[in-house]
Amino acid sequence: MAKHTVTLIPGDGIGPEITTAMRRVVEATGVDINWEIADAGEHVMAEYGTPLPEHVIESVRKNRVAIKGPVTTPVGTGFRSVNVALRKALDLYTNLRPAVSIPGTGARYDDVDIVIVRENTEDLYAGVEFEEGKPETLELIDFVEAHGAGTIRRDSGISLKPISITGSERIVRWAFEYALANDRKKVTAVHKANILKYSDGLYLDVARRVAAEYEGRVEFEDRIVDMTCMGFVLYPEQFDVVVLPNLYGDIVSDLAAGLIGGLGIAPGANIGENAAVFEPVHGSAPKYTGKDMANPTAEILSAVLMLRHLGEKDAADKILAGVRSVLGEGVNVTYDIKRTNTGSTEGSVGTQAYADAIIATF
Ligand code: NAD
Repeated sequence: MAKHTVTLIPGDGIGPEITTAMRRVVEATGVDINWEIADAGEHVMAEYGTPLPEHVIESVRKNRVAIKGPVTTPVGTGFRSVNVALRKALDLYTNLRPAVSIPGTGARYDDVDIVIVRENTEDLYAGVEFEEGKPETLELIDFVEAHGAGTIRRDSGISLKPISITGSERIVRWAFEYALANDRKKVTAVHKANILKYSDGLYLDVARRVAAEYEGRVEFEDRIVDMTCMGFVLYPEQFDVVVLPNLYGDIVSDLAAGLIGGLGIAPGANIGENAAVFEPVHGSAPKYTGKDMANPTAEILSAVLMLRHLGEKDAADKILAGVRSVLGEGVNVTYDIKRTNTGSTEGSVGTQAYADAIIATF
């Protein structure tokens, strides 16, 4: 029996190509994984009536570890997003997005080493929305006014921003535990508590309370989200582990991805108490589907995170060293990296040839 069984969700668009590259690289390290393939996305809708069939969720629940390619969000089906649905079904409340500089990517910075820990289940992404003009929306507007909580224009659409003690406490604690386990020195809690007193204010109170438990072991600071964005650009070296509510986490992690060379490089993980799903930050890049052009680095680095999660440190280190070596040489790289470095895509290699170059370093 294989040492690990991992659910593999190839996804669609460039997903199947980059997950194939990832799988070949992982297997070449010699690590013993049994891949349980589970298809999700628009292409399974005809067969199952949903882009996220129950057996896919069950497979992840059983194996507790999954790695996926991006999945296109179906338009006009009433189904929000496979990715969001999977996170909700498995209560994957942590979105981990490390942003670490790799020489050769053509990034504007070469000294970034920031770990973004984003809350994944509440805040403005809780999906609690009221459409403009609907009776219930007008009722809500009347309710707000009746309680002296302020006035809202009657032609407004409304999205609620719930932030709970439960949600805040577990994400901040996760960030501190991550810092301890990975020998990180500081956790920064990001918020806008000066304006949003009852949501971000609550988050900040909880963060301070949790931080007190780690005093003397991990340093703590809090920062306002706008100042954080400026700080990322001016002095990224001042940040270590950064923990944020959902919306700020989404935006600031893309900013961090930009600092290290863009979406093609940025890996991610969605982690809960009972399961972890690893995936790149980027989407399915439909225009590159089937062209063997997409950059699989973010998918491969997501596998590095997965291997660490599985306790396969040697395999993870080997792959990371291989990626650094191939990107550092700048020869066998995909079109996007070649273009950033030389201004032209000439001489770039395909998705699988790039994976071959990484494997050749083992
Ligand atoms: P995208 O990330 O797919 O593409 C943004 C840009 O980056 C495009 O120009 C694309 O060609 C390029 N790009 C992305 N990944 C690349 C790679 N590996 N190599 C080279 N170039 C790459 O974002 P989008 O166009 O907004 O979304 C496309 C679809 O993906 C949408 O349906 C969206 O909902 C979905 N999506 C899925 C996930 C996920 O599965 N987790 C995440 C984001 C978006």
